[in-house]
Amino acid sequence: MSHNRLTRLRAALGERGLPALLVSSPANRRYISGFSGSNGALLITADAALLFTDGRYVIQAGRESPDFELREIVNPDHPMADLLTEAATELGLRQVAFEAAHVSVAQHYEFARALFDTPVELEPAEGVVEALREVKDAEELATLRKAIAITDEAITAVIPQLRPEMTERQAAWMLEVAMRERGADGLSFPIIVAAGPNSALPHARPGNEPLGVGRPIIIDMGALVDGYHADLTRTVCLGEPDAQFHEIYNIVREAQGRVLAGLRPGLRCNAADALAREHIAAAGYGDKFGHGLGHGVGLDIHEGPSLRRAAPGKEQSGPRLHAGNVMSVEPGIYLEGWGGVRIEDLALITEDACEVLSKANK
Ligand code: ZN
Ligand code: ZN
Repeated sequence: MSHNRLTRLRAALGERGLPALLVSSPANRRYISGFSGSNGALLITADAALLFTDGRYVIQAGRESPDFELREIVNPDHPMADLLTEAATELGLRQVAFEAAHVSVAQHYEFARALFDTPVELEPAEGVVEALREVKDAEELATLRKAIAITDEAITAVIPQLRPEMTERQAAWMLEVAMRERGADGLSFPIIVAAGPNSALPHARPGNEPLGVGRPIIIDMGALVDGYHADLTRTVCLGEPDAQFHEIYNIVREAQGRVLAGLRPGLRCNAADALAREHIAAAGYGDKFGHGLGHGVGLDIHEGPSLRRAAPGKEQSGPRLHAGNVMSVEPGIYLEGWGGVRIEDLALITEDACEVLSKANK
């Protein structure tokens, strides 16, 4: 697993002219090395693959990352800086790139201070490993399918048990238990159950509001399996929905259907977003869809590529979809005072179209 990913990373470093990369983001580190502990970093060059971690993780790192040379962090005052300096000197490096999006100012200061008396220069780099992670390999797809199946089965089991007098919080707990019972390691993110007017807030937190009858209930949830995140949204209604619900639900569902029918490699991400946005706008609710259409999922719940509007003037130059991307497709309409409807499925971009991975009923 990690061997192939390491090869791809080395190729990417070569293309960018970077002799070495310090990988400190936990998700990137896990992706490249397999190491899942809470503390550690990788130093990757064309020939070397080092893993820095502390004494708590030495045994685990040896098991999870057999291709890596382990270096134990011993100085608690300078956890990473001393090791980095030592290794860079030993490898004869003159430049080490670091993940600018994941290194704090304080860490950077510490690295710079430790490297001050050496010829090694620090070079900010962005998105090197993230770009590799956008295209999932077979092992990742198998894990994602497992997380998605658990999520689908859990929501399918719980929805018939929901009652109007139950609170959002109770429903969220039932969904959490149902995912854990089916093998989830944890939650992809805190479950959203938002009833009635609360469902107009795309990221509402479950509270003591009863689910009630005849009004929208948004449920957004996902199982976490071996570090991989599922993500699913369904909007349901207990009892007889009002006319508004029928109208809004159908618009959102049609918008999502247009996207799922149109996703394919080569399509620009902003064009995918437009497939849903134009449909919702044509129905008169363009200003009620206030978020992007979707995002990649994997070792992070939100990762690239991102399906969203292009910046003005950039419609023809944005990033495109690739086979192997796993994307959420989650259009929504939110009406203050009434509530909202969002429907979210995960789809794998295939060689010529997409495969909808989420199977829960809509
Ligand atoms: Zn979601
Ligand atoms: Zn999502």
